[in-house]
Amino acid sequence: MTGARRAQNFERLILVRFGEIALKGGNRPAFEKRLAARIRQAVAPLGARVAAAYGRFLVRGGGDPAEALRRLARVFGIVSMSPALVAPLDLESIREAALLALREALAAGPGGRAVRPASPGIIHPASPGIVHPASPGAGPAATFKVESRRANKGFPLDSMALNQALGAHLLEHQPGLRVDVHRPDVTVHVEVRDEAAYVYTAVLPGPGGLPAGSGGRAALLLSGGIDSPVAAWMAMKRGLELEAVHFHSPPFTGARAVDKVIDLCRELAGWGGLTALHLVRFTEVQKAVYRHCPADLGVTVMRRMMFRIAEGIARDRGALALVTGESLGQVASQTLESLHTIGRVVRLPVLRPLIGLDKTEIVERARAIGTYDISIRPYEDCCTIFVPKHPRTRPRPEEADEAEAALDVPGLLAAAREQTEVLRIAGTR
Ligand code: ATP
Ligand code: MG
Repeated sequence: MTGARRAQNFERLILVRFGEIALKGGNRPAFEKRLAARIRQAVAPLGARVAAAYGRFLVRGGGDPAEALRRLARVFGIVSMSPALVAPLDLESIREAALLALREALAAGPGGRAVRPASPGIIHPASPGIVHPASPGAGPAATFKVESRRANKGFPLDSMALNQALGAHLLEHQPGLRVDVHRPDVTVHVEVRDEAAYVYTAVLPGPGGLPAGSGGRAALLLSGGIDSPVAAWMAMKRGLELEAVHFHSPPFTGARAVDKVIDLCRELAGWGGLTALHLVRFTEVQKAVYRHCPADLGVTVMRRMMFRIAEGIARDRGALALVTGESLGQVASQTLESLHTIGRVVRLPVLRPLIGLDKTEIVERARAIGTYDISIRPYEDCCTIFVPKHPRTRPRPEEADEAEAALDVPGLLAAAREQTEVLRIAGTR
C-alpha cells in the first residue's frame, strides 16, 4: 500500500503571496487584478496558468518551476513564493507529499541542509545574484520541523495532530533526521485547504513593492550611467510605469551609446514597468549652450533644457512626474543648490529615488537588478562632452536665467522635440 502510494505523482504549483499592509479597503481588488495581469504576463510564455485563491495566487503548469520562479522574482507586488506539492485530502497522501518535499529539500540545499528548494537563480534585490545554489547530496543529520495549518475545518486532524502524524512519518522514513523546532534545516509546511493540501519547504522572497502601473506614469531621465537605471527600478517598484527619455548628441555620441541605453531599457522592461524610449537629439542644444552660455554654468543650463524637454514629453504622454538618478553631493551638479536651480524650470514633481542611498548601495542594487554590467560599458554619453573644467557647484537660479537669456529656449525645445524618435521597448525576462 505504502509502496504504491510513494509512487504517487503529485501535481506541482507555485503559491504566490502578496503584501497586505498597503491594501486596505477599496484598493485591494484593483491591486489584485493588476498583479494577476502582471503575473500572467510573466509566466504565460511558459504556458503556465494563474488563478486567485484565498488572498494569493496559484501558478500551475509551465514546465520547470525554476524558470517560472525566476520570472516571478521580477514581478513587483509579490512578497514571497513557494513551489508546492498538491496532495489529495487524505493523510496517506499528505504524508507522502511531505516526505517527498523533505527529500527534495535535503537533496537541493548546500551540504544537504536545504532550507531552500532546488530552484537556482532566484534573484532578490536585497541579496544580489544567485541566492540558492543547488548542491546535491543529503546530509546524514539534518533537522526539521513540520508546520501545519488547517484552514479546512472538515479535515479530521487539527494542525497539532497533523504535525505529529507527519513528523512521525518523516522520522520513520528518512534516516538520520532529527526534530528541531527552533532552528530546523528544513521546515515542511502543510496547508490543508478545502480542495487539497499544499506542501512546501521553501518561502522565496519576491521583490515586494506594488504592481507596475498601479501608481500611474512618469517620465524617466535615463542616462547610460549606473544611477538612473537604479532610480528607474525603485520608481517601478512603487508601481510607476515609466517612459524613458534619453538625450544623445550625434555625432559626438555614437550608436553604441544608444544601443547601451536600449539594452538598459530592455533590462528594466523585464521588471514590467517600462514601455518606451524617447531618444532626443540634443546636439543643437549642447552646441548652443556651449557657444552662448558662460562655461561654468553650462552643465546647469544643459540640465535645465533636459528637464524642460522631458517635461514636454511627460505631458504628451500623460505622465505626472519626472524621475532622475540624481542624489545629493556626488558631483558639482548635485548639490542642493544645483538641484534647486535645475528643478525649478519644471512644474511636474521631480522624483529622485536615490536620495537616501550611498553610492555603494546604488552599485549593489545595480548589480542585483541586472543593469550594472550594461552601465559600465565605456561609451560616452552626452554629458561627458562639452563639460567645463570648473562647473559652478552652487549655481543660483538668477544666474541660470541670465545665462539662458542668450538662448532661443523655445526654439531649441521645439527643434529637439521634432528630432525625437520613439522606440517601443519589449523586456528581456
Ligand atoms: P547616472 O549614473 O544616472 O548617469 P550620474 O551620477 O552620472 O547619474 P549625472 O550625470 O549628473 O549623474 O546625471 C544626473 C541625472 O540626470 C541622471 O541620473 C539622469 O537622470 C539625468 N541624465 C543625465 N544625462 C542624461 C542623458 N544623457 N539622458 C537622459 N537623462 C540624463
Ligand atoms: Mg551620468
